[in-house]
Amino acid sequence: MCGIIGYIGNRDAVPLLLKGLKRLEYRGYDSAGIAVLTDGQIHSIKKSGKVSQLEVLVDDTPMQGFIGLAHTRWATHGEPNDINAHPHVDHTGKIALVHNGIIENFGTLKRVLENQGVAFTSDTDSEVLVQLISALYYNGKTITFEEAVRGALQEVVGAYGIVAVCADEPETLIAARLGSPLVLGIGEDEYFLGSDASPIVEYTRNVIYLDDGEMVKLTSGKHVISNIHSKALVTKKLSAIDLSVEEIEKGEFPHYMLKEIH
Ligand code: GLU
Repeated sequence: MCGIIGYIGNRDAVPLLLKGLKRLEYRGYDSAGIAVLTDGQIHSIKKSGKVSQLEVLVDDTPMQGFIGLAHTRWATHGEPNDINAHPHVDHTGKIALVHNGIIENFGTLKRVLENQGVAFTSDTDSEVLVQLISALYYNGKTITFEEAVRGALQEVVGAYGIVAVCADEPETLIAARLGSPLVLGIGEDEYFLGSDASPIVEYTRNVIYLDDGEMVKLTSGKHVISNIHSKALVTKKLSAIDLSVEEIEKGEFPHYMLKEIH
């Protein structure tokens, strides 16, 4: 299980997400990727290897957006290559998702979706989630993106921390967790999501730790947390991060393991 960062607010998400990926490097990973929503379109770049290699690609393909998500992957299903890196985008190209964890029943769900004509592009378990959300959302389009994510999560067995965005609801970022940590950072008219606090700490110290079985819908200046299965709204305690930026940086050490040893 590796790293996640998400953002919705008034800043350009791209440099913030790339910096967040660097903050998450200490966890170890094999690939990295980023997606932002601009002018009703998902722009996604992903690459096996280091975050610095991803940065070169992003520099070559300028992208910008006020809402986005990024991921460092530690492969569990499928080779650590460019295609299997996250974010995964559904077959319509309108929904992007990052996932930490393992979807145990991905094989069954994949077969059902393939029988419905969905063409998969990766070997990951994670892609099943984004394709399932898409199938529910674009099937007659009578439900919201939040409800499509909820519906998909109700069908999966396994562990997940996810962040997802949809070009047809460009003001909304959805996140959820079960067995994989997720922190919500609360800024002024902006929100941050992280698989831990390290990519968030320099922007805000006010956080909410999501518990297993909870999902959050983020829109401009508003967050709504609910139970994935019962849909009941959940009121959460605000916590303060007691971690300094220095603590999460490598400092004088050439790599994190050496810092850890010291
Ligand atoms: N199971 C997913 C994959 O193999 C996510 C791995 C992770 O947590 O980084 O792509």
